[in-house]
Amino acid sequence: MKNQRNIVIIAGLLLFGLFIYQNSQMSKSLNQIPFSDFVTLVKEKKVSVATIEEEKITFITISQDEFITIMPKIYPGLTNLLYDNNVKFKVVESSSNGLLFNILIQWLPMIVLVVIWIVFMRQMQGGNRIMGFGQIKPKKQSKESSTVTFDDVAGIDEAKYELVEIVEFLKNPKKFQNLGGKVPHGVLLCGQPGTGKTLLARAVAGEAKVSFFKVSGSDFVEMFVGVGASRVRDIFKQARSQPPCIIFIDEIDAVGRHRGSGLGGGNDEREQTLNQILVEMDGFQVNSGIIVIAATNRPDTLDPALTRPGRFDRTVIVNLPDKNGRKKILEVHAKKVKLHPDISLESIASSTQGFTGADLQNLVNEAALLAGRKAKDSLTEIDFEEARDKILLGTERKSLTMSDKELEATAYHEAGHALIAALSEQLDVLHKVTIIPRGRTLGVTMLLPKDNQSLLTKGKLTAMLAMLMGGRAAEETIYNHFTTGAHNDLERATEYSHRMVCNWGMSKKIGPFYLSNSNNDVFLGRDMVKQKKMSQKTALLVDKEVKMIVNKSYKTALKIIKNNLSTLHRLAKSLLKEETLSGEEVLAIIKQKST
Ligand code: ADP
Ligand code: ZN
Repeated sequence: MKNQRNIVIIAGLLLFGLFIYQNSQMSKSLNQIPFSDFVTLVKEKKVSVATIEEEKITFITISQDEFITIMPKIYPGLTNLLYDNNVKFKVVESSSNGLLFNILIQWLPMIVLVVIWIVFMRQMQGGNRIMGFGQIKPKKQSKESSTVTFDDVAGIDEAKYELVEIVEFLKNPKKFQNLGGKVPHGVLLCGQPGTGKTLLARAVAGEAKVSFFKVSGSDFVEMFVGVGASRVRDIFKQARSQPPCIIFIDEIDAVGRHRGSGLGGGNDEREQTLNQILVEMDGFQVNSGIIVIAATNRPDTLDPALTRPGRFDRTVIVNLPDKNGRKKILEVHAKKVKLHPDISLESIASSTQGFTGADLQNLVNEAALLAGRKAKDSLTEIDFEEARDKILLGTERKSLTMSDKELEATAYHEAGHALIAALSEQLDVLHKVTIIPRGRTLGVTMLLPKDNQSLLTKGKLTAMLAMLMGGRAAEETIYNHFTTGAHNDLERATEYSHRMVCNWGMSKKIGPFYLSNSNNDVFLGRDMVKQKKMSQKTALLVDKEVKMIVNKSYKTALKIIKNNLSTLHRLAKSLLKEETLSGEEVLAIIKQKST
């Protein structure tokens, strides 16, 4: 950074110097006199020396004054005139006072601009890349001696089990080979972000007590072709100099994508980097003691060359933790905080379906912060619940004031959702409904899964769609007009119904086919090919089916609302009064006899 500032200062000084120079040039020409006066002076014999430079004549008078005059293009008889009047004169080649210097002056602004441009380019890349091509930034190449062990990794036992063998090998390569074990060169960890892939790789290094080199695929993606490849060479060189060790490449999809795919043709830089990784891995000796662990959440986009034998020949899937897994992960992270003795991590685990290990860690942190703010000395389940709602829905925006009309409309909208959710047998358990604005929404109806369900049935989906439509249906029934509050509901409902038709084979007219969803990332090249699979006719039919499903669920929602109108009023009234109702409270209100 210091370098850059210097360059800017130098550029500034240069510009300033140029300005001064030009000013001085101008001041020189101040005592210019008309040519006719010059001729008169010569004739009067008052000029002693003259210097002729093209049409510019600099001359000194007898009284030692210096003047400049410009003569008309080739004044006839100038030399004769000077001879006749005893003037010493010389002719100088134009701009002989430094041809080079003049060129420099002309080009200086350009040069300054270029320098400034380079400085900015470097700033944009954030580092001293121009000087230190090819070397990974010191922070990132950091060799660590990992202190993480398998005990720190919880809830993903299958993945852990698959890596035990790697640890054995790293601990004692010779023994391992004598037993005839076939050692993988590379392991590919596949799983969503936050599921603990980095943690696992660190734990392998920690268990085996070997060094750990971490790089990220995105570090290799540079604007200069060839830099990524030379970085790969660099890191493998370092690793080879101190085996046994682990090289961990995070986000390998950034460089390992299918070659020659994507928009705008292939990316040469990426391909070169990928090729270099392959070359390095192919060059490993059988017992070199180096294991490359790579992580990705898009294994489907990887170039098949990466998973060929001798490269990443083992794939380990890191799944989202199930309920038991979540409990174990909570136990790991809860060691760092003080829990209330009555707390049940089990029930927290069951209300955090879909959370990754990183989410759970975040949950514990948030809960500790919330408890700290309330000056409690231990964490209770309420803190965890608040923390979870905050993570899932954003922070409460208590300061946002809504008009009474808006509040009432929101209450009816949420009451509509809650009513349908509470009455449905198929749906998850209604957890709470609130009209306190959070994040970007004005109100929330929140469900929590009954148990570990990872498959959705058509019945449950249909009920979900009806529930999503419940808000708008209630608004229509009560006010006979709509607000924009339902836009998110509609978006989700449309998305679900689209997937029911295209991905889950739940439409009779379309049948059990997987039709690619155009929402996929078009930059992944392969998907673009897939999209063409759907014919125009099918696309029309899909649209019709999607609309039919959404319309049908809206009708269902309207019917439920109309049949329970008095309950809806009661729910909305108590929501306005209490702002938040728990699932049980909603059920109690539904059971009340209408008054
Ligand atoms: P990934 O590399 O898959 O994106 P990380 O390994 O970086 O995920 O996980 C981030 C953090 O989340 C870890 O440092 C750890 O504290 C926590 N974490 C994730 N998974 C687990 C797990 N299975 N057990 C314990 N902690 C976990
Ligand atoms: Zn809604």
